[in-house]
Amino acid sequence: MRVIFLGPPGVGKGTQADFIAQKYSIPKLSTGDLLRESVANETELGKEAKGYMNRGELVPDDVVVGLVEEKLSSPQCKQGFLLDGFPRTEAQADQLSRYLVSTEKELDRVVYFTLSKDEIIRRISGRRSCPDCKAVYHLESVPPQKDGVCDVCGKSLIQRNDDKPETVESRLAVYQEQTAPLVEYYKTRKILLELDGAGLVSAVQERLVALLDQPRVE
Ligand code: AMP
Repeated sequence: MRVIFLGPPGVGKGTQADFIAQKYSIPKLSTGDLLRESVANETELGKEAKGYMNRGELVPDDVVVGLVEEKLSSPQCKQGFLLDGFPRTEAQADQLSRYLVSTEKELDRVVYFTLSKDEIIRRISGRRSCPDCKAVYHLESVPPQKDGVCDVCGKSLIQRNDDKPETVESRLAVYQEQTAPLVEYYKTRKILLELDGAGLVSAVQERLVALLDQPRVE
């Protein structure tokens, strides 16, 4: 299975991506996670990406595409992959498409997650994550057992820099301007599936599995 999760920040792509990657035994490639890791490790790429990320802007296409192509060419991605948060611009989508043609692979599905803006803001403002094991919580809907502490590894939870209210609006504007056009892009290629991202994680999960298990209409 080669699949892309598309949709605004905070819509639940990452949470569902972890579940789907495990269920279908495919690697999840989250460009956000890869970039945050590079920032934390203070690599050259991380130093370049940091400013863009803190401002809620997109990291330049060539940086992100290089990162993704390197991962996609690894043996783990031979049987499939799940891209979470990539592509985010038409240029990235075009480059991905060229890469896949050059390796004689095809995308199976693009799942487009939808959610109201109010709910997106509620989810992002309550999101807390573990800087170590990357587990994600929500202060109200998925709280950790002990306030501020990761259930999985016991590290202190943090709020991502770019989840702070001053950055969220600009991330949503960037999404509308640069990423939302990809909905039409993949609709035209007849591989877009729309998923209502509202409700409990388990309910979205069920709808998502039903969508992915549908036979593909050629
Ligand atoms: P995310 O965790 O997917 O919300 O991504 C966090 C931040 O990483 C974004 O706001 C961007 O600054 C950067 N980023 C992640 N994926 C991409 C991408 N495909 N293209 C450009 N920037 C990206």
